[in-house]
Amino acid sequence: MITFVPEPHLLESPRGREWPLAPGAGPRSAHTAPPPATADVAIVGAGPAGLAVASALWHLGVRNVVLIDREGRPCGRFFDRIDMLRQRVLRSPYEHHPGVEGYRDCELLDFARLHWSLLTPVERREIRMAQSGHRSVVPVDVFEAYCKHVATLHHVDERTWRGAVREVRPTADSVTVRGDGFAVTAPYAVLCLGEERRAAPSEWWDGEAAPHGVGYWDEPVPREARSLVVVGAGLSAAHLISNALGDGKRVHWILRASAERYQCADVNASFFRAEGRARFDGTDWDDRTTLMRGHRRASVMFEFRPLLQRAEAEGRLTVHRGRAVTAVTGERAGRAAVRLADGERIIGDHVVLALGTAVSNGGQLLPEGVTAPRDGWPDLDERTLAYRNAPRVFAVGAAAGMVLGPAARNIDGHRVATARVATAVAAQLETAAGAVRTGRAVARV
Ligand SMILES: Cc1cc2nc3c(=O)[nH]c(=O)nc-3n(C[C@H](O)[C@H](O)[C@H](O)COP(=O)(O)OP(=O)(O)OC[C@H]3O[C@@H](n4cnc5c(N)ncnc54)[C@H](O)[C@@H]3O)c2cc1C
Repeated sequence: MITFVPEPHLLESPRGREWPLAPGAGPRSAHTAPPPATADVAIVGAGPAGLAVASALWHLGVRNVVLIDREGRPCGRFFDRIDMLRQRVLRSPYEHHPGVEGYRDCELLDFARLHWSLLTPVERREIRMAQSGHRSVVPVDVFEAYCKHVATLHHVDERTWRGAVREVRPTADSVTVRGDGFAVTAPYAVLCLGEERRAAPSEWWDGEAAPHGVGYWDEPVPREARSLVVVGAGLSAAHLISNALGDGKRVHWILRASAERYQCADVNASFFRAEGRARFDGTDWDDRTTLMRGHRRASVMFEFRPLLQRAEAEGRLTVHRGRAVTAVTGERAGRAAVRLADGERIIGDHVVLALGTAVSNGGQLLPEGVTAPRDGWPDLDERTLAYRNAPRVFAVGAAAGMVLGPAARNIDGHRVATARVATAVAAQLETAAGAVRTGRAVARV
């Protein structure tokens, strides 16, 4: 029997290696002109979900796609966030990647093995773990190079434009995706919007802007801060804490739960498999809500446990367990304080809020009433992931959570969602093209 020993050194893969370019890759020319006015499919968001959808459509023969993303490059926000947290390894294993289900053109594990000479001994051992079916840790460096490879092979780079989409307007036969200075009209649109950081409750401070000395997990921590207060119980909090300890800072960690939770993946592994998703199928809304609540709780990778326990024992880290925050305030000399429910105030040079993320359900882009959200979840067709009130618009990513279960927001959940959406879109385009070829009136598909 293999006994699982969490090893903090697994968290330390190198970052920034030079990876050979994928065959056919040229220098990426940033699109300075607006995107084309028409396409077969408009994809909003080019994160891992948008990349997976565009790549799957490529395999299905749908090549005239336009991706529009605020960052203007595939997976830009994903890697920006990861690098802000100085995260060196993914939480998900080698099996989870945005390559295309059913085509197996080059999977993440194959890609890593192809670049064996660039890997460290620890990284090579993790590959052997993956090959023998054990949990494995994937370097961010490998994953980023792989995403570039997938983007190049499926011509996603050259179909991606920078732009912030302000509205998505479906009609009976098309969808128009509009932003500042551009509009793309296509028969179908796929929203791959991901998640925004979760904002602090409005009662924590007055006004819109955070008090001075207070930031969120996706913002830089000032170097000069000698003490840090971190609020939140998830992996982002763990990264912030370990970075701060490594930089010689003193850290306070505030958790609402009575104890920190250590877990390999952020979702129980069964939800990445058909039998886990089956626990969702056929259940009613209340059961799904209960499953989501139970399985989407914040947790930290096991590898952090020895590191954080040692810091706590040595007094470099103070953990405030089971403490609810009631207010956050700016203090004198640029410092900030967190007030707890029992009145105690924890003061530091800087406070970071790592409160997780909130699903972008499309409601801010689609006309009122289309999203029809229930508890924030959009109303989607369970077979195709199209919005029931706008059947030409589809959702992939976290927004599909109440259809696909807790794994929907993860890379492996995108694989399942993509298979449904890309197949439906390609089939509907084919039906419409067939109708035109045979001269039949184009039925509404
Ligand atoms: C730090 C961190 C680490 C993670 N690690 C893992 C991991 O190891 N494994 C795992 O499975 N999951 C991980 N996750 C979860 C992760 O978010 C998802 O797996 C994945 O990034 C989601 O991909 P996405 O494409 O849905 O969203 P994103 O990566 O957020 O991409 C969405 C894109 O859409 C763009 N966008 C949104 N709205 C608009 C608009 N109106 N106009 C134009 N562009 C828009 C955004 O700017 C963004 O670029 C991690 C999350 C974080 C925050």
